Amino acid sequence: MNELALVLNAGSSSLKFAVFDADGAGDWPLAARGTIEAIGAAAKVSVRNGSGASLPAGALPGTLRDAGEALQYVFDWLSRSFTGARLIGVGHRVVHGGPRFAGPALVTREVLEELRALVPFAPLHQPYNLAGIEAVAQQRRDVPQVACFDTSFHRTLPAVAKLLPLPAEVCRGGLERYGFHGLSYEYIAGVLPEVAPDIARGRVIVAHLGNGASLCALRAGVSIENTFSFTALDGLCMGTRPGALDPGVVLYLFQTLRMSAADVEKLLYERSGLLGISGVSNDMRALLASREPCAALALEYFVYRVTQALGALTAVLGGLDALVFTAGIGENSPVIRRRICERCAWLGIELDEGANSGNADRISARGSRVSVWKIPTNEELMIARHTGRLLPRGSAPA
Ligand code: ADP
Repeated sequence: MNELALVLNAGSSSLKFAVFDADGAGDWPLAARGTIEAIGAAAKVSVRNGSGASLPAGALPGTLRDAGEALQYVFDWLSRSFTGARLIGVGHRVVHGGPRFAGPALVTREVLEELRALVPFAPLHQPYNLAGIEAVAQQRRDVPQVACFDTSFHRTLPAVAKLLPLPAEVCRGGLERYGFHGLSYEYIAGVLPEVAPDIARGRVIVAHLGNGASLCALRAGVSIENTFSFTALDGLCMGTRPGALDPGVVLYLFQTLRMSAADVEKLLYERSGLLGISGVSNDMRALLASREPCAALALEYFVYRVTQALGALTAVLGGLDALVFTAGIGENSPVIRRRICERCAWLGIELDEGANSGNADRISARGSRVSVWKIPTNEELMIARHTGRLLPRGSAPA
C-alpha cells in the first residue's frame, strides 16, 4: 500500500480509528480499525484488520493523558504497520455542523472557529471531536483534514420540521431541530438504489437501532424527518438516554428533587433509557438474556417507542413503502425486529420468519405491502468517501 487515509471518531475518553487503503479508485478498502478506550486512565487498545481478525497493537506508552497522546500512538502504530505508506488525509466524525454545514467541510482555521462556536450545542461531544482535529493539526500539519457531520444529512428537513415551538427571540442563534446519525442514514440512502431499487425513490423509514437509536423518514432518499431534535436526547428510548421526555420532568428534577445541572445531565445521558428502566444493563444482548422482569419491561418499552415513532413518521411521509433496520440491534437482533414488525402489522408489514431469523437482506414476506430490509450501515466508509472527495489533490474514490 502506498497511500492511506485515516478516519477518526474522537470521544471524551475514547478514540476510534479506521485505516483505509487509498491506493485505488472506487471505494477504498478497510485495512484496519481500532479503539483506544479509557484515555486519561488505564488506556486500552485493540486493533483488527479489515476482515475483523485481531492485529498486534503493541504496548501503550503508559497512561495516555489526552487525545493528542492517543493520536501519537495511532501515528506510531501506522508507521510501524504500514511502512512507507503516505497518509493522504484524515476524516473526522463531528457531531454538530450547526445550521450552516449541509455537507462535509475541508478543515481550515475559519471552519474550526465556526465549529468551536457550536460547542454549546453538543458540549459532551463537540469539544472532543474538535480536540481530535487540533491534535492532528499539531502533529501532522501537512495532512489535510475533513470534518463530516452527523447533522448535515438532515438539513433537508422542511422548515416546519426544524421548528421548536418557542418564542423566536429564544430560538435566535440556532436553537432548532437538527437530527443526528446522519452519516449512517446517508450511507443507507446511498446503497438503497443498489440493494432495493424498487423502493429507493419511495417512502422509506430507516431504523438505526444501536446504543443510540433513531428513525429517519426518507422521501426519494432525502431526509424529511427524524426522531432526534436539537440534541441526541430526543426521540426513541436508547441504551442510557430516555428519548422524548416531558420537559416538565426536567423542571421537577431541578425544582423538587433539587438536582444540579451536572447531575441532570448525567442522569439523561448516562443513567436512563434501557439501563434506567431495567437496572440491569444498557446492552440489548444482556437484556435479551436476562430473566429480570425489569429487563423484559425495558425491552417492551423500547419496542413500544419504536412502533409509536414509526406511526408518526409514516404519517409525515403520507404512507410507507419500506422499512430498513440497521446498526447493532437492527442488524443483529431478529427478536427485536420481529417484535417491532408484529406491532406494525396494521401498516401492511408482514415478516418472512425464515428470512428474518436467517438474517437475509430482505426479511418481509412476499405479499407484504411494505417491504422490510436489514442493511448493515457503514459510517466510517461514508467519512472515508467524503474525505476522498474533498482532499485538495482530488484523489476521489468514485
Ligand atoms: P453504537 O450506537 O455504540 O454504535 P451499535 O450500533 O454498535 O452501537 O449497537 C450496540 C447495540 O447493539 C448494543 O445494545 C448491543 O447489545 C446490540 N447488539 C449487538 N449484537 C446484537 C445481537 N446479536 N442481538 C441483539 N443485540 C445486539
